[in-house]
Parts: sequence; C-alpha cells; structure tokens
Amino acid sequence: MILITNDDGVFSEGIIKLTEVLSKKYEVCVLAPDRERSTVGHAITVRRPLRLWKIEKSLYPDGVEVYACDGTPADCVILALSDVIKKDIKMIVSGINNGGNLGDEITYSGTVAAAIEGALYGVKSMAVSLVVKNSNLNGNNFETAAVITSIIIEWMLNQPIKRGSLININIPDVSLEQIKGIKVTEKGTKLYKGKVTPLKDPRGNTYYWIAGIPQEDKEEGTDVWAVSEGFVSLTPIDLDLTDRKLLYEFNSINLSKQLTEKLKHLQQE
Ligand code: MN
Repeated sequence: MILITNDDGVFSEGIIKLTEVLSKKYEVCVLAPDRERSTVGHAITVRRPLRLWKIEKSLYPDGVEVYACDGTPADCVILALSDVIKKDIKMIVSGINNGGNLGDEITYSGTVAAAIEGALYGVKSMAVSLVVKNSNLNGNNFETAAVITSIIIEWMLNQPIKRGSLININIPDVSLEQIKGIKVTEKGTKLYKGKVTPLKDPRGNTYYWIAGIPQEDKEEGTDVWAVSEGFVSLTPIDLDLTDRKLLYEFNSINLSKQLTEKLKHLQQE
C-alpha cells in the first residue's frame, strides 16, 4: 500500500491527479490535511487532539480510501504509520505540490516534511512538486507530473533506501513531450531574502507581511538548474544533519576540552 499525502490539502488538484494515476497501477490510500498547510515545515501537533474524517463521494477515484486530518502533513504520516487507517504502508508519496520545492525551500516545505517523517520511520518516501511559474495560480500539468512520479515509484519500489534518506522530485510545469529528461541532482541554493512590509490594520496598528524575493543560484548539477533547463530533478536527501567537516575541525582543536575547562572555572567560582 502506498500512502499519498500533501501540504496543499486533501482537495487540491495535485493530490487528486496523483491518486488518479497511481491508483491504476498500485494499491493506494490518502491521508492528507483538511486545508492548505504549505510552509508549515516539519511541525507536528502535540498540544491538542487530532481528528480524521473519511471523505466519501468526492473527486477521488472510486475504491480509494481517502481521509482528511486537521493536523500537519507530518501528523498525517505519523497517524498513517501508526496503523490508524489499518494499512500496511510500504511507501509514502507526498504531493503533487502546487509550486517547486527547490534548494533551501525544502526546509520550509510541508510537502518535503511529510517525506522526511516517513524516512525517519524507515519507510521509502518521496516528495513531488510541480514547479509552476506563478504559485498564486494552479499548475497546468499535474497529470504529466503524476505519470513521471509513477515511473520513479516503479524504480524506487525495488530499490533499497536506508532509513533517514528520501527522494525530492521537482517537475517543470510543461507537457510530457516538452520534458527534456530526468536528472539526478544535488540540492541547490534558493533563498528568500526576507522582505518584510509593515502595513496598518483598520484600527491603525502596524502588522507585518513576510514576502521574500527568491534568490536562485543556477549552478550546474543542482535541482534549481535542472528544472530551469526543462528537466525533472531527482535529489537524494539525507537526514544525517551532522556537519562532518566542522565536527572534524572542532575535534582537532579539542573543543570539548576547551569548553569543559571554562565550565570547571564557573563551577569553582
Ligand atoms: Mn504546498
């Protein structure tokens, strides 16, 4: 059974198209947020209860079990992997997001966070995003993206993927014929330089709106580059977040000892 989830909400076009295409070939079930939860990152809900609703008579194909949850994308994965919907989940596919998750965007993404949660549990997981030109509008080629996702799933099902690793896929918003190919890439650089606009509410109080301007670095071999050239980008992501280079440097100057000595001084005062 493949679990399909997302961060755009259970009624968004991307997840419905993905389910339509995948359900023709694989056993799938859907458990996704009941509303849009984009940019919530890897947040989970622990200070209030979570509720699930079974969705009937919707735009989803007949015979697919679909659930909405009032939590985050990561909550949905936790519930699904706790057998709440009683399925033997072998893989998690999160998407198809309306908008790319390229470079540093992945650290904000709820789409990617759902796949991260799956990877932490040791379940094969991928995040899939359609790189639309204007994220205020819906993408045009979710069906193309779903077909491409299907071939990547076919490969991944027979592939050993270690716990803590996941696949991040970004697909240009063009027709199937216009896709130039599929490139294995590394995470590139895409930052949002924090642009904060102060505005006034109707009572005259100031409020703030964050709307950063994306700064892309289209270095060859990166996800940002591949998609800008018309390719599908497939990036392996590793959750081993330790900075090995810094770890080595810190050990070479014996930082543990240096800081412990400072601590001992404080303790003796
Ligand atoms: Mn989203």
